[in-house]
Amino acid sequence: MTIVVIAIAAIFTPVAGDSRGLASERRASESAVSPVRPVYRAPLGADLRMLTGFDAPVDRYAAGHRGVDLAAAQSAPVRSAATGTVVFTGAVAGRGVVVVLHPDGISTEYEPVTSAVRSGQRLVVGELLGAVHGRHPSCAPASCLHWGARRKETYLDPMELLGPLGTVRLLPWGGGQHFPPS
Ligand SMILES: [Zn+2]
Repeated sequence: MTIVVIAIAAIFTPVAGDSRGLASERRASESAVSPVRPVYRAPLGADLRMLTGFDAPVDRYAAGHRGVDLAAAQSAPVRSAATGTVVFTGAVAGRGVVVVLHPDGISTEYEPVTSAVRSGQRLVVGELLGAVHGRHPSCAPASCLHWGARRKETYLDPMELLGPLGTVRLLPWGGGQHFPPS
């Protein structure tokens, strides 16, 4: 189907306007899928060291790891991964959780944290939302930040929001995986 459309465009569009026409068509279709694609940055300022990688659950109740665990000292500042609005702040299973909804429909979750924000508050990318406080089960006794991402009920690998560096998979245990700061 795409080939047919391009062929027709090549026949009926003047050569000078051809690439411009296709480019704006492409931009229009991208913007239809994702109206506002915010810039995502890692929620921790220092070099990232991943202790536990993402393990997509096969359905909403299945086992899995609904995010990544990033090494973080107690009281380490935690920052919003993108511009958005705080949609939840409170305790879940005894641990502080902050959830931020972004303009592309993806929400990111941070735990265990002491919240520095309130529900409904608008945040820009990199804005402080809390500090690491407590232990997260899948990396205890190490101290870490669990960072999750989802679109409605579908969990996503938050590292993939960061671009090419984020697609690198978890290395075998032995100190974790390092990324340069984003
Ligand atoms: Zn986790």
